[in-house]
Amino acid sequence: MRIGVLGGGQLGLMLAEAGEPMGLEFRFLDPSDSAPAARLRAHVQAAFDDLDAIDRFACDLDVATFEFENVGPEALAHLEARVPLRPGAASLEMKHDRLVEKEFLVRCGLAVPRWAGVERPQDLAAALEKVGTPAILKTRRFGYDGKGQARVDHPEALASAWDSLGRLPAILEARVPFERELSALLVRGLDGEVRHWPLAENLHRGGILRRTLAPASGAPDEATAMAWAQALAERLDHVGVLALELFECGDGALLANEFAPRVHNSGHWTIEGARTSQFENHLRAIAGLPLGETAPHGHAAMVNLIGRCPTVESLLETPAARVHLYGKQPRPGRKLGHVTVVGDDCASVHQAAARLLEQASEVAVAASEAAS
Ligand code: AMP
Repeated sequence: MRIGVLGGGQLGLMLAEAGEPMGLEFRFLDPSDSAPAARLRAHVQAAFDDLDAIDRFACDLDVATFEFENVGPEALAHLEARVPLRPGAASLEMKHDRLVEKEFLVRCGLAVPRWAGVERPQDLAAALEKVGTPAILKTRRFGYDGKGQARVDHPEALASAWDSLGRLPAILEARVPFERELSALLVRGLDGEVRHWPLAENLHRGGILRRTLAPASGAPDEATAMAWAQALAERLDHVGVLALELFECGDGALLANEFAPRVHNSGHWTIEGARTSQFENHLRAIAGLPLGETAPHGHAAMVNLIGRCPTVESLLETPAARVHLYGKQPRPGRKLGHVTVVGDDCASVHQAAARLLEQASEVAVAASEAAS
């Protein structure tokens, strides 16, 4: 079976690594000549809106999927006319505009932070009145990993925050004083069967995921988180992996932040930490194969390597560390790899994660200081 993937980044690389042992073949569409997934595999190097390239990409594929969300509706329609796209365009299009996504979350019954749309100067006052401060202003389009966002600490700061984002259509969101961030990860098969991995606990800095622990410690409201993720997947008739990012407040109540209709960074721990990884189950789902078990192997921690990587030697000083490097050039804020630790003893896995996080941060900080 030949699978086409829109996007050739690290998510595509890990999809191929999961699928090749099952005999699946891959072709990637990506504009970059150094796309990590495409280095050893078939690659159509072209822009995502190049319809001739989509024809070449789609030729003889059995199914197409994506690891990248910013693909325009025309290109998606062109692709969907040639090959089954799973998940379908409905899942992807929900991610093209934060306002559309937010309205969708609300329609599906999820609780979200207070928010308001900002499109014209006269919207600012009404948004402030509805949302208050502290808040975060986010552009509606093309924001990821904390990009396209500005903090609004007091009412007078809103106008300059909007200026700093180029006065683009945006949403103002109440800044949630959360206790921690969680993510729910599920896979939905072609026949509608749903399987969940345990809830994971995430640490972000500067809007970028730094560390994930799974299963999340304590007693989070797993039932609500999973019901919400499942409601989204069912409403979209989604096929494949879906992740829902959540804020857990002091009283344990959950608020939904955003969802990803694809394999997700907070699910990388499943490669070593679960009976079936998110990558393998995504492929099983879109290929119409039976889904794999999602039970965890003990406790897992995943630490992202961002901006600059510590040496492999130093990372491997942590017992049980499994290193994944994506083969990307170092650049501040760029995800270059990740390290996973799995073990039976929760405390030692968490300690190992804390050490690796410190190691990764020190190298990244030293590199960005040297660059400035
Ligand atoms: P996002 O791109 O919306 O996922 O935001 C990236 C990160 O910024 C989140 O994982 C949070 O750490 C933080 N963040 C985003 N929105 C909010 C919010 N409304 N309140 C508090 N923190 C937020």
